[in-house]
Amino acid sequence: MSNGNYIDFWKETISQIKNTLKEENRSSEYDMWFSSISYIGDKDTTITVAIPSVFMKEQFSSRGYDTMLEKKMEELTGKHFTFDFIIKKVENTETHEDEKEETKPQAVVEKKLEKVELKNHPDLNNDYTFDSFVTGDNNSFAYNAALSISKNPAKAYNPVLFYGGVGLGKTHLIQAIGNSLHQQGYKKIIYITAETFTNEFISSLGEKTTQKFKNKYRTADILLIDDIHFLQNKTSTQEELFHIFNSLYEANKQIVFTCDRPIAELKDITERLKSRFERGLNVDLLPPQFETRIAILEKKLESIKYQMPNNVIESIDKKILTIIAQNIETNVRDLESCLTKITGYADLMGKPITEEIVYDQLRDKFSAPQQGNITIDTIQRVVSEEFNISTSDIKGKTRKKNIVFARQIAMYIAQNLTEYSTTELGVEFGNKDHTTVMHSCKKIENDIKNDSKLDYKIQGIVKLIKDYKRL
Ligand code: ADP
Ligand code: MG
Repeated sequence: MSNGNYIDFWKETISQIKNTLKEENRSSEYDMWFSSISYIGDKDTTITVAIPSVFMKEQFSSRGYDTMLEKKMEELTGKHFTFDFIIKKVENTETHEDEKEETKPQAVVEKKLEKVELKNHPDLNNDYTFDSFVTGDNNSFAYNAALSISKNPAKAYNPVLFYGGVGLGKTHLIQAIGNSLHQQGYKKIIYITAETFTNEFISSLGEKTTQKFKNKYRTADILLIDDIHFLQNKTSTQEELFHIFNSLYEANKQIVFTCDRPIAELKDITERLKSRFERGLNVDLLPPQFETRIAILEKKLESIKYQMPNNVIESIDKKILTIIAQNIETNVRDLESCLTKITGYADLMGKPITEEIVYDQLRDKFSAPQQGNITIDTIQRVVSEEFNISTSDIKGKTRKKNIVFARQIAMYIAQNLTEYSTTELGVEFGNKDHTTVMHSCKKIENDIKNDSKLDYKIQGIVKLIKDYKRL
């Protein structure tokens, strides 16, 4: 184990101690004793920290603060560490300007930098961290579960499934786990979407490299698979994942999945794999409440503020954020895209954002019932009604001309109004192949070009779908 693996735990330890002391009105003790110690490194079960003087070290121990550190650290890591104090003055970002020491020991500073420059995991987006995730009633359980996995992989909860609709933070959370573990020095972390997993498996069959494929996954320490609903109808990939699951599970390796719906609602997944997914902890992510939506917009604004002219950023006040948060109730992705749209507009036009601009630029997003409300089911129902056929026909195999046409229109609309991939749509339309979906969409697209009446009719159906409210 090399130096620096436990730095995140150290930071968390210090921050929790700070909060506890603050709650007990003992903030000055924190400022006096904890703010000037620095993490140097760790090896096995020893953590080395720097403290500025012998006097401070003695006081620190006699006040029982070192036991406090040990306990907190053990609580967070599940492991007992002893603290090795070295006497050194280290520049500390938390000390105030006037308290800074002039001498900065070179060696120590270098070690700190080494840690900061740890490379990102190649398959993970390093913006997806716990820090950048805003919590609210809708997602705090999921957040806490993810955080505890990152602190105690394969011990806290295993396996874990996060499920919920589009844009609610599933990918963000599962990658935050990966990023955190990677930063702590864990090796063999695999993050993959179920779609890429499937493609990799299929090409391994073609290239006769299945053994390599199996080895890669069976030797993972942490396996993170995103969007497992994609596996619907992929029998042989499911079979493969089932075996990978079993061997990792038995070897006590951490497994995390995400899915866009509860497992029970998956179609065409073998029962035995379903039962594996359902084992362990299943946590849902819900759309954010108003206050959380505001907090998310504020956080997002904070993260883009350096890329925008000051006058643009300053013009986005609470009022503007409130308008967006009131009108967008579905998910975080929609919230983010509103912010991107108005800041992009203001930046290009070189003018500050006003309420008028917001209403004007976001009219479509505000008035459109939001994506999250439109289900394939609604689309199938409305289209079936319009064509006077049954929903089982639309999902069925009949080749009758009017039914095929209605089915193609429904697929075309579904592809435009939802974020489902053509493969997923195929499953929703009675297990059709994705090429059938692609062909249908292309066909209707062409038909529309040559037939304005059809274009008009489809627009009418889309409006009905958007207005459709479940009773
Ligand atoms: P999903 O995988 O559930 O479809 P994502 O994780 O891709 O959703 O989230 C969509 C976008 O919203 C991403 O940019 C993500 O960073 C952001 N996001 C989602 N939830 C939160 C949250 N609670 N706090 C901050 N950003 C979030
Ligand atoms: Mg996702």
